Amino acid sequence: MTESTELRWHGRMNQRGRGGREFDRETIRKLRERVAYICSYPYCRRLTVHLQTGTDDVVRTGEAAHILGAAPGSARYDPGMSNEECRSFRNGIWLCNICARKVDVDWRKYEPDVLRRWKEDTEVYVESLSTQDSRLRQLRALVAPTLSALRYLTALPGPGPNLDQTYSAGGLPISRIFLEGEQLLFENSFEREAGTVLEIADELEYSIRPVCRRLMDPQYLDISCWKNDVVKKLMIDVMQFSQQAYERYLRREAQLVKAFRQNVEERGYMVVPFNFERVSLFRDGWSEPNR
Ligand SMILES: [Zn+2]
Repeated sequence: MTESTELRWHGRMNQRGRGGREFDRETIRKLRERVAYICSYPYCRRLTVHLQTGTDDVVRTGEAAHILGAAPGSARYDPGMSNEECRSFRNGIWLCNICARKVDVDWRKYEPDVLRRWKEDTEVYVESLSTQDSRLRQLRALVAPTLSALRYLTALPGPGPNLDQTYSAGGLPISRIFLEGEQLLFENSFEREAGTVLEIADELEYSIRPVCRRLMDPQYLDISCWKNDVVKKLMIDVMQFSQQAYERYLRREAQLVKAFRQNVEERGYMVVPFNFERVSLFRDGWSEPNR
């Protein structure tokens, strides 16, 4: 029902003697907007406004339903209720057309208190949508530099004095970028996420770099598994990107690693896999990776 036909209909109903028990335009607006056009039935929650194809208009598929019915014989009708109460915001709930019909016909199942709970829950849900949304955007912005730095990091660091350059992104050492990222997350109350970044930074600093520093001239270290794991942790666990976005990254990364690996092997270098057991051997003073 469009808003204007809704109003004509209300007018007709009023003339027929419902005595102003229908919602006015302002109440309908509040009912609709307080739940952001979402159907209040918790297992439905569909949007009740859609773009009309080929025009600049919309199609509406929702309605303001009465919790306690407006007319004798209607669902959950209470004869003791005044007109004013009946048409008040308190007595309304925003539903999609399907759910509105369902709660009207199956009124024994959908008692007033059930509908009141739906209304409250949906308002809370809508509120959480907007806060989650802006928090997530904030989180993504804060994590982005750390994630980029990690992506810049070569999956096959090699021997020699150039090693440290592989650990820099945009001229900054990756450890500094991580430190900064961790600090910003913490300051913005993303403590769990700050912890994740700290863990990754520590692994890089205390487990991978010591191994890299001891690489012998013919060796490159393959840290691609570690790198893919931590990128996944940041992309999906922290930034909540989709699995597909991560897989797309993986495919591209795999191509780069493969090409680089081929290149160093053709030049007679050896690629040794990184694993954490190797690190403890290094820490105990063992100086050469096991081939
Ligand atoms: Zn619905």
